[in-house]
Amino acid sequence: MLENLFASRVKPDEKSRLVGLFPETHYLDNISFGGGAPEEKLFPVEELKEAYQVAVKRQGAHAFQYHDIRGPEYLRQFLVERAKTLVGIPEVTDDEIMLTAGGQQGIELVAKLLLNKGDAMAVEAPTYVGALAAFDTFEPTYFNVSMEDDGADLTQFELLLKAHPEIKLFYTVPDFHNPTGITMSVAKRKRLVELANKYDFIILEDTPYRDLRYVGKSLPSVKSFDTEGRVIFLSSFSKILTPAFRLGWLVADPVVVQALTKLKLTEDLEVPYLPSATIEYYLQNNDLDEHIQSLRALYQTKMEAMMAAIDRYLPGIKVSHPEGGFFLWLELDQGIDTTKLLWENAVPEQHLVYVPSESFYAHRDRKNGMRINFTGPTYEQIDDGVKRLSKMLVENSRQ
Ligand code: PMP
Repeated sequence: MLENLFASRVKPDEKSRLVGLFPETHYLDNISFGGGAPEEKLFPVEELKEAYQVAVKRQGAHAFQYHDIRGPEYLRQFLVERAKTLVGIPEVTDDEIMLTAGGQQGIELVAKLLLNKGDAMAVEAPTYVGALAAFDTFEPTYFNVSMEDDGADLTQFELLLKAHPEIKLFYTVPDFHNPTGITMSVAKRKRLVELANKYDFIILEDTPYRDLRYVGKSLPSVKSFDTEGRVIFLSSFSKILTPAFRLGWLVADPVVVQALTKLKLTEDLEVPYLPSATIEYYLQNNDLDEHIQSLRALYQTKMEAMMAAIDRYLPGIKVSHPEGGFFLWLELDQGIDTTKLLWENAVPEQHLVYVPSESFYAHRDRKNGMRINFTGPTYEQIDDGVKRLSKMLVENSRQ
């Protein structure tokens, strides 16, 4: 048994939260509401191709060499400016910025920095499954904070903090939350920082969807209220440019950046040079915000199409009403098990994929919800997929 030699963190008997999450079905008419993929036809392919060629041409053979762990200079400066204007941190400096291999590595590094086995941390319930998978590796003790329409329930959280002052990390997705689509109110953002100061914990503010707002005005980041360096702001190029280059970035206190950089060195030695240089040249020669504007326009119409299909085929169902992002969250009657339905009906009968709610709960104990993605599927698939969802629920209620 090779598994006997594995470290306890691997837990061979426990299914990973991520493996098998997006079932590959080979039916031709398969519709996926499962992943969180950007719309492919809006990738700026020609511009990125040209930027890659410039990156190679300018550096010659050196482009293929090892490079600085901190990543290209211009790119870091671009992020310093973006943090000032879009994140609202007027004083941010270069030593507070760090590049990571996607937002995912940022989450994993923060977990590695803070969590010894058994350490207490709090998460929104539900929350991003990939973050839970990263935290799982460090075997924390999880505490759940329920979600309300304007973000995490901070009254409940404060009671939790009083009972468990050992909580040292709170992970939140305040903008267009994955999986529910909910956005945290400004009042709660402020209050959250006050709680962190009072009860001595760190906030990981994960915001890959922040720029993808379709309705209303952008809200100040949680980090913008930070007074003691307790907030780590994490973002990514995955949803606004391309996930293929695996490039994320964070803003944190210099002490935190130094410690995270030390941990990153042992993982991959450096920020991959060619992807980051390609993005650097792309940013020098193109207007990222103009590109984001075109994404917003398309995604807004897709979100509206999905809401309309839900009104048509699933009237009265409990659904979230996001102002941006990639996802809607459906809550079904208690007793309905969406994992069971996925494997027994959605995939084999309807050829439809969604992500069942249990994946998004730290204790995998809530089964009557599902996350559906509206950015990946076509308009026809959105309409047809919601129709299939309705059919699945009708068939289930007859049993
Ligand atoms: N955080 C959240 C909330 C996400 O939804 C995702 C991707 N689905 C990530 C982090 C990781 O993204 P990436 O590593 O591609 O930047």
